[in-house]
Amino acid sequence: MTGPDSGAPQLIQSFANTLNAGSGTDLLLTREQAAGWLRVAGLLPEGAGLTGSEHGALLRLRESLRDVLKDHAEDREDAANAARLTRALADGRLVLTVGPASTVGLASAARASYSSVVAAVAVAVAASAASGAWLGLKSCSAPGCGLAFFDGAASGARHCPAHSAAHAG
Ligand SMILES: [Zn+2]
Repeated sequence: MTGPDSGAPQLIQSFANTLNAGSGTDLLLTREQAAGWLRVAGLLPEGAGLTGSEHGALLRLRESLRDVLKDHAEDREDAANAARLTRALADGRLVLTVGPASTVGLASAARASYSSVVAAVAVAVAASAASGAWLGLKSCSAPGCGLAFFDGAASGARHCPAHSAAHAG
């Protein structure tokens, strides 16, 4: 695992925002585009690609993540959305590792490169939860937006900065 905990919310946010509902841009639209984005993000090794079913699973993972971030924004507890994200993250096959100095961490027991991608997202979710950032990760509730943003001040914001003025109150 690399980087401080502050990188975890950023990874979740940038992954969720690979789909821009406002402009209709999807950085993960094709298998090739998705693999390219994952390689740039450091989640997929050079030369590794995605199968069709892995690409489908990746899009479901992103959709379930966005749904849960929307629940955060709307201060709603949705068991079905939580269960969908749990299922999508199961591909990561996380295990707990214990170091000689009794340091503990999460790692992936999977050998397939796609499982390592999911594991990286799952570890980021766990790190965000541990640092208290998880509930501050939200998806804008403005119609047609859904942009993921980080409400670090836990202000109860429901909208991304661009929509917070228009939907104040
Ligand atoms: Zn918005």
